[in-house]
Amino acid sequence: MLATNKLGRNSICACGSGIKYKKCCLAKGQAVIASSMEKLKKRNFDESIYISPEEIGARKMSEIILEYAHEFLALTNTRSEKENVIELAIAAWNIALADEEKRFNLIDNFVSDVLRINKNSDHWKKTVSVILILINKKLQKYPLVDRPILDYDFIKLNHDEYHLNIVSGITCS
Ligand SMILES: [Zn+2]
Repeated sequence: MLATNKLGRNSICACGSGIKYKKCCLAKGQAVIASSMEKLKKRNFDESIYISPEEIGARKMSEIILEYAHEFLALTNTRSEKENVIELAIAAWNIALADEEKRFNLIDNFVSDVLRINKNSDHWKKTVSVILILINKKLQKYPLVDRPILDYDFIKLNHDEYHLNIVSGITCS
């Protein structure tokens, strides 16, 4: 789980630039998020594949999340890489469930947490793009699945096999 201690807007940025966070990585991050959001909005949504609630009823949330994150999981090798992808996927899933006007702040909060843990700027740029792709995928492919993810557990079975447990909230609709 991520720590809750937030980077203050007026404190010196964690990247080592010596500039206040609000004028440094916060501003850069917001510019990246805003331009990526614009690109996503312009995309054609026709190719969306809907998964109906009936279909979901028969499936476990863990299967849905593994399917949701599969193209990024396919790029991972180690357990910690897989866990990072699952954590990103769950954050994106929950952000996508929030009202549209709240999503920007939620992404921004998530990115400042990532920045605080990993000061490499390429890392947070990649994180922002993966989050945006996954938010878009949630909205397009699973628009009717409205269960928030409350907790998860990633269990190693064998040298190469893992099991994902998901604790999800109750569907509101
Ligand atoms: Zn900075």
